[in-house]
Amino acid sequence: MEKMTTQETITELSQKPSIYSLQLSELKEWLKEQNEKAFRAEQIFDWLYKKRVSDFAQMSNLSKNLRDMLSEHFTLTTLNTIIKQESADGTIKFLFELHDGYSIETVLMRHDYGNSVCVTTQVGCRIGCTFCASTLGGLKRHLEAGEIVSQVVKVQQALDETEERVSSVVIMGIGEPFDNFDNMLSFLKIINHDQGLNIGARHITVSTSGIIPKIYQFADENMQINFAISLHAPNTELRSRLMPINKAYKLPDLMEAVRYYINKTGRRVSFEYGLFGGVNDQVEHAKELASLIKDVKCHVNLIPVNYVPERDYVRTPRDQIFLFEKTLKDAGVNVTIRREQGSDIDAACGQLRAKERKEETR
Ligand code: SAH
Repeated sequence: MEKMTTQETITELSQKPSIYSLQLSELKEWLKEQNEKAFRAEQIFDWLYKKRVSDFAQMSNLSKNLRDMLSEHFTLTTLNTIIKQESADGTIKFLFELHDGYSIETVLMRHDYGNSVCVTTQVGCRIGCTFCASTLGGLKRHLEAGEIVSQVVKVQQALDETEERVSSVVIMGIGEPFDNFDNMLSFLKIINHDQGLNIGARHITVSTSGIIPKIYQFADENMQINFAISLHAPNTELRSRLMPINKAYKLPDLMEAVRYYINKTGRRVSFEYGLFGGVNDQVEHAKELASLIKDVKCHVNLIPVNYVPERDYVRTPRDQIFLFEKTLKDAGVNVTIRREQGSDIDAACGQLRAKERKEETR
């Protein structure tokens, strides 16, 4: 299997706030406070998101004074690319270092309909799903909005070399996005803004393990982005065994929140259902799942379990995967099997990890 790994030289990152955390309106406010004209904000957004410069000095239609002020107050480069690793199927995994020495992973997936970036929202995760690598070391910290935005900008900059574009974004990397809700919302608004990266709402997907109060809040935002829920089990007992979050936010209440979301937004939802060999992959589970979601406007995405060395789940045999799918189809469920990408570089679902580099080298 062909693998490519590149390593960039590491520059010191500063702890000033990231300019990528600011909405256009917030940047206008800041400029006003500096006695600068508000329209400069649009020029700055253009440099950040359309021309995608890597230094404030390159913003040549701004005065030297304003450029200096910007670099005094904000950082532009908030992520260091440490490793860029390409899979046989074209998937690229980026390892980015943050200003405090932690590092996160971001994945670029290539589909026939375009390039999709899978972003990380936290360093680690505190949800504790029993099959997932991202939660093994617990939660270290939340990412700032700008650190999430920067992941997309960095991947877009890599694609600029071949004049390609990031066409969609999935919030399915490390972390629970609804556990870092405000930063996640800011991120969404910035990448969706037509003067920002201008990624259409229908090309953005967020996935949650099921933090119920945030599902209601998210529904009320009515953002028209794609919404996925990690379900993984057709009943509450089994779900609690696989996902401890189900003890706090139980399946019946989760389904009620999902129904509220659908009513409020008019959108259908996606349920992610990992197939864990011998655990939740039997015909009886498929039937129970079909009846659980019978009247719910939804789509089911089956994910054959990806290998995580610390976890001892095994793959469902191929025939059983198809039988599970068929049972759902026969019951009238809209279902697909997720195509596996990047598993040879540990970039598939549930394989991403946060790393603490300073600890590693100490
Ligand atoms: N924290 C959010 C976003 C993560 S999305 C959430 O839980 O939805 C990543 C998806 O991959 C989730 O559906 C997650 O449950 C699933 N996943 C985690 N570990 C996996 C594994 N080993 N194999 C297959 N899917 C896995």
